Amino acid sequence: MFALMQSTRTQSLHLCIDPATGLKAVIAIHSEQHGPAMGGCRYLAYPDDDSAMSDAVRLAQGMTYKAALAGLPFGGGKAVVIRNPHVENRAALFEALGRFIDSLDGRFIVGTDSGTSTVDMDCIAQSTLHVTSTSAAGDPSQHSAMGVFAGIRATSMARLGSDNLEGLRVAVQGLGNVGYALAEQLHAAGADLLVSDLDPGKVQLAMEQFNAHPIAPEALIGTPCDIFAPCGLGAVLNGQSVMQLRCAAVAGSANNQLTTLQIADQLENRGILYAPDYIINSGGLIYVALKHQGADLGSITAHLARIPSRLTEVFAHAQAEKRSPARVAQMLAERLVYST
Ligand code: NAD
Repeated sequence: MFALMQSTRTQSLHLCIDPATGLKAVIAIHSEQHGPAMGGCRYLAYPDDDSAMSDAVRLAQGMTYKAALAGLPFGGGKAVVIRNPHVENRAALFEALGRFIDSLDGRFIVGTDSGTSTVDMDCIAQSTLHVTSTSAAGDPSQHSAMGVFAGIRATSMARLGSDNLEGLRVAVQGLGNVGYALAEQLHAAGADLLVSDLDPGKVQLAMEQFNAHPIAPEALIGTPCDIFAPCGLGAVLNGQSVMQLRCAAVAGSANNQLTTLQIADQLENRGILYAPDYIINSGGLIYVALKHQGADLGSITAHLARIPSRLTEVFAHAQAEKRSPARVAQMLAERLVYST
């Protein structure tokens, strides 16, 4: 774990167990260089404790880059709670997590992520003020989806020469909080949707509501389409899966889509344009960060509207230097984080 922390330049890792509630959690603080570390909380099952810690470390690094490129005065962090099937009182578990977060004295501010909701954040808020995405503050997923939708248009413009989504075939992997809201916007814009989810109920709903074509989860990545939009979990793009892709671009909400940066080079070699995840999915962070600072909806919307132009700049930079947009985004983020 120290090697991973060193290679990702992670500042600190905080572990907590609370036998009374069954809480087993890890908080990674990647950077506080530009402000307190902000990041979501995952509540998922992991094959082992190391995987949970690595997930937190990698995701926290992404949050630092995301905040920096979005021009937000925050660093990056992430909370991971290891899902325990025997937990009887979920509210008590998240209240215990709130006490753990409170003990960090504002160095980490939490929000929702995969497996958690505004209700869980309300429970955390019983024990700490260092929480966003409560019921009162609002679920950031809609704003994440708005950013991804605008990012898909920018990606389509850069790769296909048009941002008109009418008839564009978009494969949405994962119809959760972000994926479903994204599918709704894509459908409204006239896109032809191919969808998959591990939950058949969500797929059925998308078929009924958006006239979406269902594809088996294992088949979606190799299905011919214009844009592949990963909106499930991370690490979907690895040495094998990248060769299966039959699309012009990858642009979706999932964090940490690439298993390694070399995968971005493979995408580039295959002529597939990659929209860096921590730029295209920054809408949720922009919403919670600005909301936490007391900003009004008008200024949040204006800030969100900068996502497509930021992507377009990165695409242009990447094209000029014949490099992957992922490498350009990382270089720009590291310049912002480490050179001041
Ligand atoms: P979610 O848990 O609500 O939804 C994820 C969905 O993906 C679930 O329905 C799940 O069944 C499905 N899924 C998982 N693996 C799949 C697979 N292999 N094939 C098909 N479907 C699969 O999560 P969410 O909040 O919608 O977030 C989705 C992704 O976007 C995550 O990677 C998250 O970290 C990232 N993200 C979310 C936000 C946000 O505001 N919620 C912001 C930025 C990034």
